[in-house]
Amino acid sequence: MELVIEAIILDYDHLKIILGGSEESVTMLESRLPSRTNGLNLPLHPLQFLVLFVLIYFGLIWNCVTVPALPTVWQPAGYTILAVILISHVITYAVATIIDPADEMISHRLVKGTSASLDRSIHKHAIENNFCYLCECMVGDKSKHCSICNKCVEVFDHHCVWLNNCVGRKNYRTFIACLFTGLMGSIIIGSINLMLFIAYFTDKNRGDILQPYAELLKTSTESQVSTVTTGTAQFYLFFRPAPYEAFLAIVALTTVMGFIASGLLVHLLGFHVYLWFKKLTTYELIIQEREKADLEAQRKASNPSIQEREEQATTSTSCLKSVKPKRSIVPVSTTSMKELQQKQKTEYSLV
Ligand SMILES: [Zn+2]
Ligand SMILES: [Zn+2]
Repeated sequence: MELVIEAIILDYDHLKIILGGSEESVTMLESRLPSRTNGLNLPLHPLQFLVLFVLIYFGLIWNCVTVPALPTVWQPAGYTILAVILISHVITYAVATIIDPADEMISHRLVKGTSASLDRSIHKHAIENNFCYLCECMVGDKSKHCSICNKCVEVFDHHCVWLNNCVGRKNYRTFIACLFTGLMGSIIIGSINLMLFIAYFTDKNRGDILQPYAELLKTSTESQVSTVTTGTAQFYLFFRPAPYEAFLAIVALTTVMGFIASGLLVHLLGFHVYLWFKKLTTYELIIQEREKADLEAQRKASNPSIQEREEQATTSTSCLKSVKPKRSIVPVSTTSMKELQQKQKTEYSLV
C-alpha cells in the first residue's frame, strides 16, 4: 500500500526503480505508446492554423476596415460587440483545446501511455466490460478509446480536428459555447460587410450607412458645391486612403468568408442540437446508424427473393446482363457496408 502511494507521487524514473529496475520492467515501460494530452500536443493539425488565420483576418478587417466605414455614432457599439464575441470565442476555443478530456481513471493511472498492441484474436474491441485493454484500466460506461489521442475519453463524443483534441464530457459545453460564439461572430461580420457592399451602390445620396459618403455630403453642404454628384468619396483600408475598388474587394471577400464560416457553424451547431434532442453523442449516433445498416444488409442477405429482385433491377439496365454472376449480391452488399463504414469514419473524424 505504501509503495503504491509513494509511486503515485514519483515520476517515471523513480517508478522504474520501484519496479526493481529489471530489464523486463524497464522494457515494459519504455515500449508503451504515448497518449496525447490535449490539442496542443504535436503534431498540430493544419486546420488549427486555418482557425488562427481566420480569427486574425476577421479581427483585423473588422477593426481596421469595417467599423471605420460605418457612421461615427455606430462605431463604439461596433467595436464593443464584436470584441466581446471574438474574445469569448478565442477563450472557449483555447479552453476546449487545452482541456484533457481523458477518462478519470486514465488521469489517475500510475503508468502513462498504452499497451503497444491489442490481440484482436482475443479481444474484439479495445473496451470490453468497461475494461480498456489498451489503457489497461477500468473506464466509464460511455468512455471510448480514441485511436488518434490513444487514450480513453470520458463520455466520448468525437475527435475534433479543428481542436486537434477529443470532445468529451469535460469539454463538451465549452465546445458548444465555442461553436455558438463563432456563429454569432461570423453572422455579424458577414451581414455587416454585405450591408456595406450594398450601401456602396445605394447610399451615395444619403450617407446613412457609409461614413465616406457622409463625409462627402458634409463637405458638399459646407462648400455649397454639389460634390455629391461630381466628387468622389474617399475610402480607407487600415486607416489609410485606398481606391474604392480595393475597399469593395475586401468587403466582398469578408462577406463571403463570413457566410461560409456561418454555414459550417450552423450545420455543426444544428447537428449537436439534434443530438441533444435525441439524447445521443455523435459516436452513439454513428454506431446506431451503423447497426441499422448492418441489420439491413443482413436482411437482404437472408432473403434471396429480395436479392434476386434487386439483382434483376440492377442488371436489367446493364448490357452485361447475360454474363453477370448470380451471387454478386453478397459481395456487393459487403462492399457497400465497407464503403458506408468508411464514410461514417470519415464524417466522424471531420466533425
Ligand atoms: Zn483506452
Ligand atoms: Zn481523440
